[in-house]
Amino acid sequence: MQLIQLLQNNMSVALVVFAILGLCVGSFLNVVIHRIPLMMLYSWRQECSQFLTQQADMASTHTSILTDAVAKDVPITLSLPASRCPHCSHKIKWYENIPVVSWMILHGRCSDCKAAIGLRYPIVELVTALLSALVIYHFGVSTAGLSALVLVWTLIALTGIDFDTQLLPDRLTFPLAGLGLAVNSQGWFVTPTESIWGLLLGFLSLWIVVKVFYLITKKHGMGQGDFKLLAVLGAWLGTLMLPLIILLSSLLGSIVGIILMKKQGESQPFAFGPYIAIAGIVALLYGSDIVNWYLGMYV
Ligand SMILES: [Zn+2]
Repeated sequence: MQLIQLLQNNMSVALVVFAILGLCVGSFLNVVIHRIPLMMLYSWRQECSQFLTQQADMASTHTSILTDAVAKDVPITLSLPASRCPHCSHKIKWYENIPVVSWMILHGRCSDCKAAIGLRYPIVELVTALLSALVIYHFGVSTAGLSALVLVWTLIALTGIDFDTQLLPDRLTFPLAGLGLAVNSQGWFVTPTESIWGLLLGFLSLWIVVKVFYLITKKHGMGQGDFKLLAVLGAWLGTLMLPLIILLSSLLGSIVGIILMKKQGESQPFAFGPYIAIAGIVALLYGSDIVNWYLGMYV
């Protein structure tokens, strides 16, 4: 309690403490981004194999090949097995795992096989540190500030996962939507009514756009995960922020999409989730300033 009071009274100390905490959380988010898709793959394969072997029309001679292959899958969780170099399986020691510092000392290479460690790892750590400090600067060391940190950290993880796999896992979006409703039951960001409508309208607004797009073009323009992510932001930030988030994410997504299309051709899969997440973070921190400025232009 004394520590919280100290941080509440000293903003500069709080910023340093939360930036360091952000570096450590960023290091954990790298694990989340890498492992959650692998955990999903593991459980899908197990479920598929189990389901197919239960079907009456599936001869065991056929399914045994499948079950034998799936039985060899190694279970994975966020903590197990311990982190290893993906190239040489060298077990990463604690001092090789210090956020940003280890990457710099090792010159971005595995200490054993010298394979390159992506620049993305320190970038995720630095971005998490920067955004954590920014959230605390904006909301202070308060219940709103601490819950906003959970939102921003999960959005960073979702951005990384969607970028890699074009997936926005329900195991992250569903609890985050529930948490949005819970924090706003106390009115920390918006009223409970705005939060509930934000959740519903966030989902429906993109769902309608995609259904209309499909009726006209017979193409799926966007994944279900994108609706769920907008629903999450609606639950946290309320209905009034939804137009800003949709506008900002479409703008960002279009710019990056056009650049990527020119570089790599049209066939590349495109993840829209990262732009919704970035727009959500902007709306969380500066949404009311932007909306007030915009409305002020017409007064
Ligand atoms: Zn290695």
